[in-house]
Amino acid sequence: WSIYFHSLLIFDIIISYPINHYESIDLMMTLGIPALVAIEVLMWIIENTYKEQYEIREQLNNLAKYDQLTKAYNRNKLIDVCKDSSSELKFSGAYALLMDIDHFKNVNDTYGHDVGDLILMDLVKIVKSSLRDTDYLIRWGGEEFLVILVKYDEVAVLNTAQKIRKAVENNDKSKCKFTISIGAARYKGGDYHDLVKSADIALYKAKNTGRNKVVLFRDDMVK
Ligand code: GH3
Ligand code: MG
Ligand code: MG
Repeated sequence: WSIYFHSLLIFDIIISYPINHYESIDLMMTLGIPALVAIEVLMWIIENTYKEQYEIREQLNNLAKYDQLTKAYNRNKLIDVCKDSSSELKFSGAYALLMDIDHFKNVNDTYGHDVGDLILMDLVKIVKSSLRDTDYLIRWGGEEFLVILVKYDEVAVLNTAQKIRKAVENNDKSKCKFTISIGAARYKGGDYHDLVKSADIALYKAKNTGRNKVVLFRDDMVK
């Protein structure tokens, strides 16, 4: 806009000269207008440089926050959420659901890695559709996803986990059928590692007792 209006101003000076007969037209032409052009060029360069830096910063933020394949958060998000003292995770009824695709190696071996990637993206879509806006879906690694449910009670957590599990089981839009196992655990304060560890123990139990199921962590699961 600045370039546009300044060009208009220069144009106006030139075409109105026969009527106005500016006294200092020589000065305008030799100094004023070149200076104006130089300033505009400089501004254009500065703006472009700033825009480039802004885009690079956005890209870096994006890489630091999101998993590039599924667009779920990556595990940095959990560190972020737990660091933020004003966060709702401080911690009125927060739960973790750790979910893992059953026999995912078979999916890759049978249908190929590309189909495996599509399955991961489908899973994210299905899980997201069962969550509230205040929940977080994080790709924990490989085919494991961690959901942080905020302000839930135990019944609501188990309902949500079962809803996700059934939605995955009944999904027939993907290239192949697949199921997931889910370990759920309540946040009891302290480091988020403990929360994930408890959910992992419950997930392990789900895997060892038949898969395609939800198991809630209990203290007596730790030997
Ligand atoms: P389980 O029921 O015990 O979980 O069996 P599983 O076959 O899923 O076991 P495991 O966790 O050992 O295998 C995970 C597989 O996930 C192995 C790896 O090749 C695959 N995987 C991890 N990340 C990706 C990915 O980004 N894309 C694809 N296509 N596969 C992935
Ligand atoms: Mg796994
Ligand atoms: Mg698996």
